[in-house]
Amino acid sequence: GFASLPLSSNCLSFLRFSFPTRAMASHIVGYPRMGPKRELKFALESFWDGKSSADDLQKVSADLRSSIWKQMADAGIKYIPSNTFSYYDQVLDTTAMLGAVPPRYGWNGGEIGFDVFFSMARGNASVPAMEMTKWFDTNYHYIVPELGPEVKFSYASHKAVNEFREAKSLGIDTVPVIVGPVSYLLLSKPAKGVEKSFSLLSLLGNILPVYKEVVAELKAAGATWIQFDEPTLVKDLDSHQLQAFTHAYSELESSLSGLNVLIETYFADVPAEAFKTLTSLKGVTGYGFDLVRGTKTLDLIKGGFPSGKYLFAGVVDGRNIWANDLASSLDTLSALEAIVGKDKLVVSTSCSLLHTAVDLVNETKLDKEIKSWLAFAAQKVVEVNALAKALAGQRDEAFFSSNATAQASRKSSPRVTNEAVQKAAAALKGSDHRRATNVSARLDAQQKQLNLPILPTTTIGSFPQTMDLRRVRREFKAKKISEEEYVKAITEEISKVVKLQEELDIDVLVHGEPERNDMVEYFGEQLSGFAFTVNGWVQSYGSRCVKPPIIYGDVSRPKAMTVFWSSLAQSMTKRPMKGMLTGPVTILNWSFVRNDQPRSETCYQIALAIKDEVEDLEKAGVTVIQIDEAALREGLPLRKSEEAFYLNWAVHSFRITNCGVKDTTQIHTHMCYSNFNDIIHSIIDMDADVITIENSRSDEKLLSVFREGVKYGAGIGPGVYDIHSPRIPSTEEIADRINKMLAVLESNILWVNPDCGLKTRKYTEVKPALSNMVAAAKLLRQQL
Ligand code: GLN
Ligand code: ZN
Repeated sequence: GFASLPLSSNCLSFLRFSFPTRAMASHIVGYPRMGPKRELKFALESFWDGKSSADDLQKVSADLRSSIWKQMADAGIKYIPSNTFSYYDQVLDTTAMLGAVPPRYGWNGGEIGFDVFFSMARGNASVPAMEMTKWFDTNYHYIVPELGPEVKFSYASHKAVNEFREAKSLGIDTVPVIVGPVSYLLLSKPAKGVEKSFSLLSLLGNILPVYKEVVAELKAAGATWIQFDEPTLVKDLDSHQLQAFTHAYSELESSLSGLNVLIETYFADVPAEAFKTLTSLKGVTGYGFDLVRGTKTLDLIKGGFPSGKYLFAGVVDGRNIWANDLASSLDTLSALEAIVGKDKLVVSTSCSLLHTAVDLVNETKLDKEIKSWLAFAAQKVVEVNALAKALAGQRDEAFFSSNATAQASRKSSPRVTNEAVQKAAAALKGSDHRRATNVSARLDAQQKQLNLPILPTTTIGSFPQTMDLRRVRREFKAKKISEEEYVKAITEEISKVVKLQEELDIDVLVHGEPERNDMVEYFGEQLSGFAFTVNGWVQSYGSRCVKPPIIYGDVSRPKAMTVFWSSLAQSMTKRPMKGMLTGPVTILNWSFVRNDQPRSETCYQIALAIKDEVEDLEKAGVTVIQIDEAALREGLPLRKSEEAFYLNWAVHSFRITNCGVKDTTQIHTHMCYSNFNDIIHSIIDMDADVITIENSRSDEKLLSVFREGVKYGAGIGPGVYDIHSPRIPSTEEIADRINKMLAVLESNILWVNPDCGLKTRKYTEVKPALSNMVAAAKLLRQQL
């Protein structure tokens, strides 16, 4: 670790002030916490399991922080963030800072420790966790603050100051980062029992005194800059919400005097009104903008930027894994320099690097050429600095030229471009793709063949993934067992799952997906244009990380992907067996996507590959095909004005996959969220024959759409029980649920199924739960 290196604070400052010309103006918005090999994940989980002490966890964390700070200092970064580390989530850290602990966690004042903190994050034996939700349009999830008029705010976590001091003691001057007061409130929800109409912003006056205390303490500790993250400024805010920013920063102005204040925004353009508000804030020294996703922001800046203020230009993408096009960024930066002045431009990342992978150095298995196109967090830090140096007239020629070579190779590489695919995808644009017959006629044709009872039962796809199964897949991948042995093991598993479903008397079967580790990776591995990393983890929530595939080139399907297993499974039963695919939008939204063409184009390419698969399944005699679009909603843009465009190409992509099948082939889709009231018309427009959706955690929400009169003519299976919990629902409970659905949906379109796939559950839970589910369906069939 850094602590063991013979670097005194004097030594470092000598390094940093020894440059012949002016200091390079470089800044990093935030950095991943997990560590290059997920060190924090393992330390957290071991602590939670009682296998290691709080000291052990703190030690690992301190080492991670110091190595990150040192890495940035060594790279030459001028504005290095602190307090972007978290044991769980930065919004929860802010809740702790403000002492806004919901009473059920039994906090009695004092500095908030691991006990209370992790209880809020994960629940404890007697109290469930606080709610978690997606951080803007990322795959990161934050803990939603629960606030109301009763909350007594107090300064209860000194983490920001402690981390600032910790870095300082290592000889590194940092910019403490804090979630801004207005964004904090806008990201909160009213606590239970508090009226929905309660204005969270009315609490501004209550939290600002704590912010003032924090600022005062940071100043006393020697901070010269402070960064407030106010990303909500990129959302659609009304004038009342915008006024809250003006109010908050006027209120803080006197406390902030003597400090340089950076207000950081990210993830999208700052709308014109918000830009006006932001750039008129009192007491602010600089503004940070995402210029990767914020091309309109660039125009706003060109149209007028307050003189004497710093512009933190986020030109290095924090949301992706691609190496920066340095030459093109430098052009942008030079143009900006002409507007804001040489000494007021700071090169930065588009957002926190939290949303990208950590360090490319650990990718030993990646193809060399592809690797040259990539930059993870550690490499992005170097890019930011190289750009800042180039602006200051100290261009690192070797670095720029190898970057240019990589950019050129990416543009011309035959592994990126597949002319046929490009042509086929381009031909799709502007035209419509729909099945020829309408859904009710199709359902009739399908029913003639399928002969299903009313309230047909099915499951979503996966069955429990046992240790044995995981081992078999792992050993096959590592070539420790032969293909023959592998096929035998998987075949046995499928046969077991088929028999079980027949015993349970389920109507439409699944093969259980034992050959898949992940619903996107499984397809990505078989499609051209995808690459996989070994350590490219990104934090999703708490200690959980995901490892998205990288889509680097035109996507095509060299050969059938699922036909072997699906037709084998179909051959084991007389009942219909669902072919099981992941849809193009979900594959796109759960990958790192190429940035050299519009996302829609990549999505169309994946759609064509899945279309081939659908048609091959149909040819092989599979008559029911499920195309999961679990992540369709996740791709929804942050701003209302952009939603229609996204939904249009996303839904179009889905339809492309199955527009060519016969009327008698039944297309299912599945979605993992129930809050789709706002996108219901797009869902109808997907034109699937049957949709199964998560529902049981928020019954009323979903059904209310239909109660309000939306006509849904296709088959629909709102989940009748929650698969995220080990709890086994009773027959009565499920029957009750179905009855509630029957009150708003026609009995001839209703399906009976769980919320989602069963892969995380145990057979001891799945068997009785499904048995009760089938019993409930049969009970109601008699009553209809
Ligand atoms: N077919 C997948 C499964 O059952 C769907 C998973 C999902 O929707 N997340 O596992
Ligand atoms: Zn699901």
